[in-house]
Amino acid sequence: MSPFPLHHLALRGPTLNFIDDPFQVGDEAALRYEPDGLVIIENGKIAAAGNYAALRSRVAPNAVTHYPDSLILPGFIDTHVHYPQTQMIGGYGVQLIDWLNKYTFVTEQQFGSPAHAAAVADIFLKECLRAGTTTAAVYCTVHPESVEALFQAAFKRHMRMIAGKVLMDRNAPAALLDASVQSGYDQSAALIAKWHGKSRLSYAVTPRFAPTSTPAQLEATGALWKAHPGTYMQTHLAETLQENEWVRSLFPDRANYLDVYTHYGLTGPRAVFGHALHLQEDEWLHLEASGSAITHCPSSNGFLGSGLFDFARARQPRAPARAIRTGLATDVGGGTTLSMLKTMGEAYKIGQLGHYSLSAPKAFYLATRGAAQSLYLEDKIGSIAPGMDADLLVLDMKSTPLIDFRMQHCDTLADALFVQMTMADDRATRAVYVAGELAYSRKHLHYSVPGEFHPREE
Ligand SMILES: [Zn+2]
Repeated sequence: MSPFPLHHLALRGPTLNFIDDPFQVGDEAALRYEPDGLVIIENGKIAAAGNYAALRSRVAPNAVTHYPDSLILPGFIDTHVHYPQTQMIGGYGVQLIDWLNKYTFVTEQQFGSPAHAAAVADIFLKECLRAGTTTAAVYCTVHPESVEALFQAAFKRHMRMIAGKVLMDRNAPAALLDASVQSGYDQSAALIAKWHGKSRLSYAVTPRFAPTSTPAQLEATGALWKAHPGTYMQTHLAETLQENEWVRSLFPDRANYLDVYTHYGLTGPRAVFGHALHLQEDEWLHLEASGSAITHCPSSNGFLGSGLFDFARARQPRAPARAIRTGLATDVGGGTTLSMLKTMGEAYKIGQLGHYSLSAPKAFYLATRGAAQSLYLEDKIGSIAPGMDADLLVLDMKSTPLIDFRMQHCDTLADALFVQMTMADDRATRAVYVAGELAYSRKHLHYSVPGEFHPREE
């Protein structure tokens, strides 16, 4: 007789998990691999995880879904992505500032329409799930309607999402500017009141970047963030040298780019800065000291020709400097994919160009537990451990004939993971569980919304 009540949902298969930071303690000490694992789910959370033989007595036999030739891992976390840009991914031929004017600011004007925003939000979340991403930090547009649409769609799917209304009051088309500093503040505050902390949703105060806000708006943004503890602040930092020069000319009194944000109270825990490519040592030190996080967006940095992320300075600096909280991100539509696997492969290439060899465990860490840590969510997501949200990804390790063939010649787990991040994409997503429920199944090519039809895997 089992001393435990029998659980009614569990996933069996090889499992991958991180218990520590591989950049700090080394890959082997940080990583846990269970060749025949069992993850037991109860009320949307992980009740137990470990070896199948050791845990099988706690689960009703018909409650176990078996995923051989797979890898069960925490759902991926995309720490910087613009959902309205889903429809303009892959726009040819320009660098950041021109790209904003030619593509982004044209596209984003459509998101005052609730119907348009709802349609794109739905596609975006479906594509996140198909890529194995269960949480993202999302930029909407200046329109409150764009935030409503994203939060409603995520709420319906029980997804943990962070999002916010973009704040801009200069240097963009008039149709994309806040009517006034006060209106941008008030609209943001109303969205916070309605959505922050509702179900699994969190709000991010979202000034696009320093050049598109007046000093008065940045001042109000700092006050807004301070008035709502627990919310996030997300923006862009030092993506290109041209942008750095622009910031210097717009804010001549500030010591450097990050100092603009610091001056207006926009650094600290839950501040998330996209890119961070062209920084001075003072900026690195303040990022760490303030508890701020950065996001590495490799496919975007390559696509827009923005620059090379400094993995060594961010994550393995020489003492006394300390590592910066860092998450991996797609930055669609500057980025060219919503797949975190492909993003890991791109991160490796960026590392190579900077003479830093990013190991597969470190890349997987940056897309799971490391990303969660950057968002101060490591007690909720990013790991497979009792009490964590049951946001889980089941990867098919043989998702194409070539990968299947290549995997026959892998000798180690690190080899196998590296082949996946180099060669695999959304076709490898076999199933995704959100808060313990099957949210996407490749076999059925079906997305299920809680309360609607729920397919069973084999
Ligand atoms: Zn971005």
